[in-house]
Amino acid sequence: MSDVLVANAIYRLRQKLQLPQAMKPRKKRSVADHSVFWRPGQTLRISFIGTPCPWLKNSIFDTACQWLKYANLKFELLDNDVEEAEIRIQTDVQEGVNFSFLGNQALDVDGATMALGVKLSDPLFESFVLHEFGHALGMEHEHQHPQANIPWDLDAVRQLLAAVLADEANSPDELADLIEEDLAVQFLPLPDNGDLLILPYDKQSIMHYRIRQKLTRHAFKRSQNLKISKKDKRFMRLVYPASCK
Ligand SMILES: [Zn+2]
Repeated sequence: MSDVLVANAIYRLRQKLQLPQAMKPRKKRSVADHSVFWRPGQTLRISFIGTPCPWLKNSIFDTACQWLKYANLKFELLDNDVEEAEIRIQTDVQEGVNFSFLGNQALDVDGATMALGVKLSDPLFESFVLHEFGHALGMEHEHQHPQANIPWDLDAVRQLLAAVLADEANSPDELADLIEEDLAVQFLPLPDNGDLLILPYDKQSIMHYRIRQKLTRHAFKRSQNLKISKKDKRFMRLVYPASCK
């Protein structure tokens, strides 16, 4: 597996197959669909699945708590394997697989609501954890912002997806459908259906993917963002405002 984007595509696909038919996880959700947010002031309980290394577990939790400086929410770390927790994290997944359901969509899911195939030694550890917890608090991908205008080389992206999704499909038609679905879910601008909470496009957002030059036209590329950006902070304050005193 050469590309994190593709590794995530496979994981998400398998997650989806385990869900009830009616559920369409993370498909065509808006940059900020109001319905996915938690209640301001709410305590979100977090539980890990299985027996992850305590250092890894505590580092993920501590890193995620960076969001609480800007969002009026609380996190409570429970024992492992507590099904009642709103956020349930699986760490024994392939390295590079990072995924989360969007905000309170997690309430409709059995099992893991987030996958973190991260290593403490990885220099990008913090950015991966912050990114997935951004999703868990209701944030969508910034590179899919309707005004992002990423010059994707769609042939190159489709080829990449086809190579990896090939084993998941039973027919050429099914493969074509999977490729188009993944393009929409992970790459293309989100449809602006008039019900979005959208702040201006921010290329510094922690919710923006690294963009590889081999997947774009005009030699476009972007490196990985490492920190919560000013706009990310503003977004959280807007969605989870502090209570009046
Ligand atoms: Zn993401």
